[in-house]
Amino acid sequence: MNFYDFTQEELENYLIENGFKKYNATQIIQWVYEHNVTDFSMMSNLSKKLIEFLNKNMFFKLPKLVIAEKSELANKYLLELIDGNRVECVLMNHDYGYSLCVSSQVGCNMGCSFCESGRLKKVRDLTLDELVGQIICVSKIENIRIDSVVVMGIGEPFDNFNNIKRFISVVTNNKMIAIGQRHLTISTCGIVPKIYEFADLETGVNLAVSLHAPNNEIRDRIMKVNHGFKIEKLMEALDYYINKTNRRVTIEYIMLEGINDSDKCAEELANLIRGKLMYVNLIPYNETTHFELKRSNNFKIKRFYDILKKNNINVTIRKEMGGNLSAACGQLRANAEKE
Ligand code: SAH
Repeated sequence: MNFYDFTQEELENYLIENGFKKYNATQIIQWVYEHNVTDFSMMSNLSKKLIEFLNKNMFFKLPKLVIAEKSELANKYLLELIDGNRVECVLMNHDYGYSLCVSSQVGCNMGCSFCESGRLKKVRDLTLDELVGQIICVSKIENIRIDSVVVMGIGEPFDNFNNIKRFISVVTNNKMIAIGQRHLTISTCGIVPKIYEFADLETGVNLAVSLHAPNNEIRDRIMKVNHGFKIEKLMEALDYYINKTNRRVTIEYIMLEGINDSDKCAEELANLIRGKLMYVNLIPYNETTHFELKRSNNFKIKRFYDILKKNNINVTIRKEMGGNLSAACGQLRANAEKE
């Protein structure tokens, strides 16, 4: 079994089940994460019997680097998994530190009309070791400490909820990846029941929601998920989340020319979220060759921004970091994949 496919609790149970002690898990975790030792025979405070057991039953396996595309603001990595499937992640160098955007699935089934990831459909969920493996791999490749993680790469994290819960546990565990809860953000297209479950976890992990439209008519057109979960239901779930956690929700809004970027849309969006603990992140659309959709021009984006501001909505315009790479959102994998 792959060591990276265990949370601390799971490792403890596994060892106990096999006649070892709970604290052995902490010892092993310390060797791996603190001292960078992945050879059980070198773990000098473990018994011979335990080392033998581990050598027989456990291994360390991480994704392998296939391509790294580098630019001044962001690096993009295509990683190969054990079964040959590939995922991508993006490293951004912000003034507050390194931030890594990780994928949650191979492909995606949400079928958003503007998104490259969905064009390739979901092949499978990523396992815990593959989720965590992205962070470990990139840290090792670049020899850096990653300060924050966003689950905004390929895939819908709430469609892989169980592994995302385990991922949160490993990432925020002080003895493991040790990234603070507030430095971890999960982005969902709006799978309503999972938002309630996520709220009930009562972690300090941030939630971002891909809204992209101020009403059902437009959202139905560009996001399939809206057929199942209407904006009203989504907003109710977010109210519940905010009530429960008192954490601010990020509303992601891609600017698509002629579709969701009118003054009326801005006013509607302001009305939708006024008074709520939310802020809007306007995202200039990253055009891809496969869709007709165009990004709104900078003037339009600024105008939309100003209308939200005038309505006292907290809003920022996302700085583009991946545009000159194979862009954000599934494009590296899509380009590398034979179609
Ligand atoms: N499934 C999750 C997380 C992955 S997508 C979600 O929907 O939130 C991460 C973000 O990138 C989402 O807001 C998504 O809508 C956005 N996105 C997808 N394609 C894009 C593109 N071509 N340009 C800009 N943003 C894009």
